[in-house]
Amino acid sequence: MKGMFPLHRFRDLPTPFYYYDTDLLRQTTDTVRREAGKYEDFVVHYAVKANANPKILGMICASGLGADCVSGGEIQACLDAGFSPNKIVYAGVGKSDWEINLALEAGIFCFNVESMPELEIINELAAAKNVTAGICLRINPDVDAHTHANITTGLAENKFGIAMNEMETAVLKATSLSNINFMGLHFHIGSQILEMNDFEKLCNRINALQDLLEARGIVVKELNVGGGLGVDYEVPDQHPIPDFETYFATYHHHLKRRPGQRVHFELGRAIVAQMGTLISRTLYVKQGTHKKFAILDAGMTELIRPALYQALHKIENLSSKAPQERYDVVGPICESSDVFAKDYLLNQLHRGDLVAIRSSGAYGESMASQYNCRKLPKSYTPEDLQDCQCHKI
Ligand SMILES: *Cc1c(COP(=O)(O)O)cnc(C)c1O
Repeated sequence: MKGMFPLHRFRDLPTPFYYYDTDLLRQTTDTVRREAGKYEDFVVHYAVKANANPKILGMICASGLGADCVSGGEIQACLDAGFSPNKIVYAGVGKSDWEINLALEAGIFCFNVESMPELEIINELAAAKNVTAGICLRINPDVDAHTHANITTGLAENKFGIAMNEMETAVLKATSLSNINFMGLHFHIGSQILEMNDFEKLCNRINALQDLLEARGIVVKELNVGGGLGVDYEVPDQHPIPDFETYFATYHHHLKRRPGQRVHFELGRAIVAQMGTLISRTLYVKQGTHKKFAILDAGMTELIRPALYQALHKIENLSSKAPQERYDVVGPICESSDVFAKDYLLNQLHRGDLVAIRSSGAYGESMASQYNCRKLPKSYTPEDLQDCQCHKI
């Protein structure tokens, strides 16, 4: 896939920067639309926190997907990108009053409510505006997803959501409040999940919870199963587009839907991870006592996933085909955790060589920081680089 990068365009660009393969993004959203479209009333929302770059948001909006936001800033970014408010859902354990008010004023489709006190505040703020807030209750299904501890969110002891044994009380409360429209249940068990079995377990849990509510005469209109589908970080070129076919089929087969019930999905990583690459330059190759360090001009400020969750991204030397050597690939930030990979085989590196850190489209740019007074990274699409003046951008 090295051929897929316009290297001659990269040559004059200051590094580090993100390169977004918009063709792959288009193919990915097309696939999502096609596979989800096989089933009636499957609705997909893009989880904006994965990548909120305006160009990317604009394309995803144009593809017809809805948006899943976790802050007022994200809601505003989606409105600016052209998303219709009735396609926006809003989750988060700590929604501030101004964020709730923004969402109420915009008239979003649904708040995913994560606690009883939050439910009461939304009701109060909605009453003050004389509007009704559509809500789903985020239930913590206590399903252990097979993923990194820092990105599992559905265990019983977790800050997210309402405990299962409080569900009935919460539903009754929601249906009793005058400015709340109770629409359904919301779940999200974690991220980078590749075992369909985990999603199956979530379906079984939802089925049981629905039976429980139905025994009380409560039928829910909307089921939101969250996101979490993972991507192939090891061999991205083998799976540039995740297996959405199996993913949606799993929910279709295992979720016992009631007539007219809609199923909402909130996919982030699976939609944008593979289209993004962090492009960096080699600053120095340093010989340590026992190993060689490849010191890049990109670090945890541009891509924090390796430092934050020991994530491994595929790394490639784009400038050389020299025989491979082992390197600890590190960034320039003054933190020992600023390491992209240890003992990693790369075509022999020289100062100035361009290095690609693959599968960086999700939780890359959106988590970038200015630590060490760094500048936030720029991003380019093939369209941006077609213009020969690209180095002036
Ligand atoms: C982060 C998040 C998602 C998206 O997760 P991915 O693993 O990127 O698909 C979906 N729903 C909620 C509530 C989230 O917090």
